Amino acid sequence: MTNSSSDAPRRPGEFELIAKYFAPLAAPSPGAFGLADDAAFLRVAQGDELVVTVDTLIEGVHFLRDDPPEMIAAKALRVNLSDLAAKTAAPVGYLLALSLPQWADEPWVARFSRGLAEDQKRYSVILLGGDTTATPGPLAISITALGTVPAGAGVHRSGATPGDLVFVSGTIGDAGAGLTILRESQPELPKGARTALVARYRLPEPRLGLGRRLAGIASAALDVSDGLIADLNHIAEASGVRIAVDALLIPLSSHLVELRGDNIGARTAAATAGDDYEIAFTAPAKKRDSLTRIAAETGVAITEIGRVERGGGTVLVGMDGQELSLAHRGYVHF
Ligand code: ADP
Ligand code: MG
Repeated sequence: MTNSSSDAPRRPGEFELIAKYFAPLAAPSPGAFGLADDAAFLRVAQGDELVVTVDTLIEGVHFLRDDPPEMIAAKALRVNLSDLAAKTAAPVGYLLALSLPQWADEPWVARFSRGLAEDQKRYSVILLGGDTTATPGPLAISITALGTVPAGAGVHRSGATPGDLVFVSGTIGDAGAGLTILRESQPELPKGARTALVARYRLPEPRLGLGRRLAGIASAALDVSDGLIADLNHIAEASGVRIAVDALLIPLSSHLVELRGDNIGARTAAATAGDDYEIAFTAPAKKRDSLTRIAAETGVAITEIGRVERGGGTVLVGMDGQELSLAHRGYVHF
């Protein structure tokens, strides 16, 4: 490819950038050949199958130009690991397609690669390859994550049956509140709560440990990215069932209650805000005890929030069992 020299960005060439910042991230995987071949080779244990997922982050849509590059890198990786977690997969590695505008200079790439390095250690994944291009548009990061499950053991959206119970990990609504704080500042909120909620928006925690334990337990599962109700409705549609969520059972963090109080309005807002990256899943009632044990062993809260019924759609039920009307169910891109 040609590159006009007059407006060339202040950074080394494509291959130097790859060798300097990305090859070290691929070093632990012999099949990545130091990013000096056309493709990586990956051996999968006999009896396992690969689980593959991709997510793209765009400047101005998912992050801002001034956000710390380490954090952008971590978020790009973590939203993908969250998808693997929801499919009960053990992460293996990832591919990185990076489209760099002029403004993304070498220090930006250096910090970005540092963010990846840190999360590689944290989640035991290795960079396996990718693509690097210049772009006249906004910075774009596309990560494809690879994981494994024993063949046939993975959990899908389509397995919920009437009589199953609905569960969710962690707490819901924190990230949505974090985004509100970034937009509107909420100065009356104590600093500790503000920092905690914003952190949950900026950097999700993929529930990999919990996810792997849900194989053989969950009948359907997904990660909550667009909003609890919106995402549960994907399970309802794929499974051909109706899902009823009890608003009073939705787990709220103490920080969120500090901000919004504990009332139906706060609970409705939490259930329809995005970016939680918790795992929402269904499971037969007889798995309750196993789930209590798994929550204790993984240190991740699991809360029963509803039930699967005959019919279609997803509803949020308030006090006295009446259905709450929702202005919207969650985030949609277009
Ligand atoms: P091609 O000419 O086929 O597009 P490239 O020259 O883009 O191949 O890539 C050369 C090697 O560098 C490949 O192994 C590719 O996977 C790796 N690579 C390129 N960009 C990245 C990146 N952003 N992250 C990780 N690996 C990369
Ligand atoms: Mg290429």
